[in-house]
Amino acid sequence: MRNAGKIFIIPFLSLMISFFVLHIGEVDLKAVANGWFEKKNDHLSVFSKFPILLYHNIIPDEEKNKSAYAVKVSQFIRHLDVIKELGMRIVPLEYALGEIASDDLQRGKYVVLTFDDAYENFYSVLFPLIKKYKIPVTLFVYTDGIGLSGKKVLTWKKLREMAGSGYVDIQCHSRRHVDLISMSSGGDSPKRLYDEIFNSKRIIELQLGKPVKYFALPYGRYGDDTLLSLKLAGYSRVFTTDFGRNNLFTNNFAIKRHHIKSSYSDEVFKSTIK
Ligand SMILES: [Zn+2]
Repeated sequence: MRNAGKIFIIPFLSLMISFFVLHIGEVDLKAVANGWFEKKNDHLSVFSKFPILLYHNIIPDEEKNKSAYAVKVSQFIRHLDVIKELGMRIVPLEYALGEIASDDLQRGKYVVLTFDDAYENFYSVLFPLIKKYKIPVTLFVYTDGIGLSGKKVLTWKKLREMAGSGYVDIQCHSRRHVDLISMSSGGDSPKRLYDEIFNSKRIIELQLGKPVKYFALPYGRYGDDTLLSLKLAGYSRVFTTDFGRNNLFTNNFAIKRHHIKSSYSDEVFKSTIK
């Protein structure tokens, strides 16, 4: 009977060894990839239910703009009223992450405001409101959209002024605002991807003198390779345009946001964030 055990174990061991030999390359990659999903103390990164809103362009009431994402000032102010009515507090993105880590999150009471792209309106239309209402926001900019001078352009000088106010946190939205999925393989793609996600980060850091830790995906487009590259480029969180709330199982490198459209009635806005 002792031999019967051996007979069973030997093929089993050789099967295991061949598995490791055959899959050794994959195991390495998975070890890295698992980092995205690893939670450890990373309820540190678990956004258990709170909404992160995504806006693009806030425009003056009189401006004619048919974009679905051009929200008028009066509508934006009504959103602030709704947030207040619901007893929710607008907090900086970074603060929200810290609160989650504290185990003391008052679920449903926080809301985070983020803005994508590089609209000049952010400075001339929204920044005065931000200061008036004392609201913290995160702005994701793509660096080629930032000009050197000019009234109608968002410039580094304006960004520095806003960052210096303490209300505006500036993070990265790539270099040229291109679809990163198109760079996942072939030709000079790795070099271009590096330029889009790493050089852009360095440019913002050097221009503003502050670390950049978060990335918002252009067009919200991503694949597993994109997310891994962003992790390797040194980001600690990546934000998509996928609609919805985040929970325990949300990938820290694919965090969802609520895209706010100009067509939303105040009621729709309310039920979106409630
Ligand atoms: Zn964008």
